[in-house]
Amino acid sequence: MKLVSRESEEPPSRGDAIPTNFTHSVNIISPLGAGTVVPPAPISALPPIPSAPRFPISPRSKEFARAFFPDVSTVEWNDWRWQFRHRIRTMAELERIFVLSDEEREAISRHKGALPVGITPYYAGLMSRYDANEPLRRTHIPVGTEYVQTPGEADDPLSEDHDAAVPGLVHRYPDRVLFLVTGTCSTYCRYCTRSRMVGQPGGEYSFSKSQWERALQYIEAHTEIRDVLLSGGDPLTLADEPLEYLLKRLRAIKHIEFLRIGTKVPVVLPMRVSRNLTRVLKKLHPLWMSIHFTHPSELTREVSESTARLADAGIPLGSQTVLLKGINDDVDVMKSLYHGLLMRRVKPYYLYQCDPITGSSHFRTPIEKGLEIIEGLRGHTTGYAVPHYVVDAPGGGGKIPLVPDYLVGRDGEDVMLRNFEGNTYRYKDSAGNVGSDRQPKVRKGKA
Ligand code: SF4
Repeated sequence: MKLVSRESEEPPSRGDAIPTNFTHSVNIISPLGAGTVVPPAPISALPPIPSAPRFPISPRSKEFARAFFPDVSTVEWNDWRWQFRHRIRTMAELERIFVLSDEEREAISRHKGALPVGITPYYAGLMSRYDANEPLRRTHIPVGTEYVQTPGEADDPLSEDHDAAVPGLVHRYPDRVLFLVTGTCSTYCRYCTRSRMVGQPGGEYSFSKSQWERALQYIEAHTEIRDVLLSGGDPLTLADEPLEYLLKRLRAIKHIEFLRIGTKVPVVLPMRVSRNLTRVLKKLHPLWMSIHFTHPSELTREVSESTARLADAGIPLGSQTVLLKGINDDVDVMKSLYHGLLMRRVKPYYLYQCDPITGSSHFRTPIEKGLEIIEGLRGHTTGYAVPHYVVDAPGGGGKIPLVPDYLVGRDGEDVMLRNFEGNTYRYKDSAGNVGSDRQPKVRKGKA
């Protein structure tokens, strides 16, 4: 790699692998008006980038790029469109980088339909070449269990399709909606709740401009909606122009107070957080962002830069993490992740019990594991580092928070409570009744 790194911000060209067929996803809705195609500017016609700041490349990424993409310049490496076009998707591309296990090879060759394999070169560089059990690799390279359906699993366990008011718009809670704006992601997580619909252009689910318009009309007509969460797929795989168009349309609706974007892009494609993107986003406040993190090994210099740019643009950042067996189901791993996030100005927000999508048994932990992690954090570290642990109720019941049980029982007017060290304390609660159904067993402490 050449060592001059400059962020490239030209608009996507027609040669990009990002589909320009809008029936699937992205790129060509014009802010100028419905149906207008934004012509790609030839690179030579673009003004020079005045003072585009350097995007850092960690030593690990440099080494990986030298080994597997030796002809790539740092400008290309730091161009999110180059990363997107060069995602690792086929058996041959995977085998060029990874020493695949027999099980991985067989699972990859069996795969058909939605949730394809897709890994950005940047993110592949964080994975182990040799160890099929390395956490990030396990989340992105399929194994045979993905094809085994166990009891309680379903393709759409949260009944999102049932709760769709119009295609692509889930209206489950009274005052807010989930707007699925694209089926494209920069990487495909094997435990994805929307595995039925992502990464399959021309499949059962379509993401089109007319679908956007129907969703916008629905939101305009429903004045009780004050909060819109953009998700997908990953909204930040949209180019700046259609993303700005969509966000501006939403911002123009008077009763919409609050916009949110759910994304994994700042983690797996951090160079997508360009100066132009943050310029667009900061005009649309209040805008919040939930970023999907999995493991502390994602906390690279590049991710420090992407989160710093977003935070500097005034966007409050929260994380969402799926609890995954053998990947992050450990108090120390989670503590390290959450401490790293706080250092990057990201508040650990949700820890999700893994949804029972078809073929997810190898990822799901018992509920006790999630409670054990929360108990291992609460009181043992900064309160800001403790997320809400939730189960998204199958059948569309919404998020149900779970907390370890700190209520010991009741002794007359006193509620008996257990602290993080296991000591029991009394709280005078004369008017209350909480805990009266429990016989307190006082072990030690100030009771
Ligand atoms: S980035 Fe999100 S939507 Fe895309 S595959 Fe991963 S979990 Fe699913």
